[in-house]
Amino acid sequence: MARYLGPVCRLCRREGLKLFLKGERCYTDKCAIERRNYPPGAHGQARTRFSEFSIRLREKQKVKRIYGLLEAQFAKYFELAERMPGITGENLLVLLERRLDQVVYRLGFATSPAQARQLVRHGHIEVDGQVVTIPSLLLKVNQVVSVTAKSRQKKVVLDAVELAQRRGAPPWLLLEREQFRGALRSLPARADMTMPISEKLIVEHYSR
Ligand code: SF4
Repeated sequence: MARYLGPVCRLCRREGLKLFLKGERCYTDKCAIERRNYPPGAHGQARTRFSEFSIRLREKQKVKRIYGLLEAQFAKYFELAERMPGITGENLLVLLERRLDQVVYRLGFATSPAQARQLVRHGHIEVDGQVVTIPSLLLKVNQVVSVTAKSRQKKVVLDAVELAQRRGAPPWLLLEREQFRGALRSLPARADMTMPISEKLIVEHYSR
């Protein structure tokens, strides 16, 4: 599956927000947002007027980038969220949080969503005891995600686990750090998702 391969700090600068895409660096003063908190490009420091359209577009782009998705992939999640009962915007966020790569990142076995995706792709992650190499797999409640026994001593995993101790796991995940495993305790509740996202704007963007 295609993915964005360009410089990720540019994405944060474009959205004017830390998206935490680069692991440990995001927590240091080397973070590009700390140093140059204005959009990238020659006109980055020029005054910009935002139209209604661009406000909604930026919100959609922001969420797409947090979860490391390209346009077509994101649009599919939106379609799926629309077909589900309940509030479309919330459904969308819940679907994104149920992705296997996102759960691996949230459990702290990877320092960034991109690294989590790579761990999954390279066969370092198991779901219910079976190796799974599909980062987009949507997990169900009570499914157990773990790092394979042979990968638990990998430096990238150990570094990630150490870094994650500072941020902890979200309330919808049950983390057993010493066993390198965790489970989906429940579906994420909107109130527990702390990223500054206005999903209503995304719904409005696609409804135009
Ligand atoms: Fe974003 Fe992390 Fe780069 Fe900072 S270091 S700009 S949070 S990706």
